[in-house]
Amino acid sequence: MEDYAEYLKKRIRVEQNRQRKSVEEQKQAIESGLYPSSFSMPLSLQFELTGRCNLKCRHCYNRSGDLPNDVMTVKRWKELSTEIVNHGGIFECIISGGEPLLLGNDLFDIMDLLHNDGTVFMLISNGFLMTPKIVERLKKYRYRWIQISIDGSSTKFHDELRQVSGSWEKAVSAALMVADAGIPLAIANTLTPNSIEDLPEMARLAYECGASSLITGEIFPSGRGAINEELLLNNAQKGRLLQIIDEQQKIYAKRMLIQRSMSNRVQLEGVCDLPVTGAIIRPNGDIRLDCIAPFVMGNVANAPFYEQWQESRYCWQDERVKSYIESVDLYSGKSNLHRNHVEGDIIL
Ligand code: SF4
Repeated sequence: MEDYAEYLKKRIRVEQNRQRKSVEEQKQAIESGLYPSSFSMPLSLQFELTGRCNLKCRHCYNRSGDLPNDVMTVKRWKELSTEIVNHGGIFECIISGGEPLLLGNDLFDIMDLLHNDGTVFMLISNGFLMTPKIVERLKKYRYRWIQISIDGSSTKFHDELRQVSGSWEKAVSAALMVADAGIPLAIANTLTPNSIEDLPEMARLAYECGASSLITGEIFPSGRGAINEELLLNNAQKGRLLQIIDEQQKIYAKRMLIQRSMSNRVQLEGVCDLPVTGAIIRPNGDIRLDCIAPFVMGNVANAPFYEQWQESRYCWQDERVKSYIESVDLYSGKSNLHRNHVEGDIIL
């Protein structure tokens, strides 16, 4: 039997070396003035519009549904969007939650403010509430993609993980509606020790649904994913998963992009020497550095965004952030300093 754990280590070493080379090149580009040393506005912002969710996923990385009530009101999201536009706008807005479709008409009102300024969207949904009428309304926006989460080729894995029966059928139906409407579709798929070998069937389903991308990988050890540790893959299982992904990438080459999540540590190493280019606005108004690093740069519930952004443009260089990155294990993605989305965020 192949030593999958060794395979994983070799692959991560290759990835890490590639990443280090790329960071060096970017640092040189900053020094020579070819790449900006800071950004006056984020290139991309993620709006976590609500902490509410209609599913109860055992692997939810930010523990949606367990959070206190949203502090950010629809009025405040609209004011924030207007402020962003007035300061030059952003290229991309990732709309997520919780489940963003729970906002109903308010979702479209918020998106309209950014859409009219030229913003491109990525909308992340579990698909449960998607209807032909909603898809019709979603058609007018510009997208990187609409992302629907499907955790297996049949109800078995998906409904068990997401804890609502019938959620797999709804997600597949949503994916088909999105693709049929001509909107770029990405399917996000998370795998557990029990579902790794289902990936080839999952890739077939994604392709048949009309997805242009399948984003697949193991559960991120954060939030309920960190609490339900039995769902996490060990090194041998991660190595085996990488091998299946490699095979599937060859099968679907040029037809569907199969992306996999990298080691968290490698991802963080790829950005930590660079200026901050984006942030996440959480349902309580916190401005979070990103979804892995547990740092908060400010809060917009009652204060404007722009000044706070100006002050936080170099947060990756903060010594506390660097120590956190060094504490993240290359293979498990866990930190011995902090349990992401289990403990409270660290305020910079
Ligand atoms: S993973 Fe997504 S669908 Fe599941 S509870 Fe979290 S926000 Fe809701």
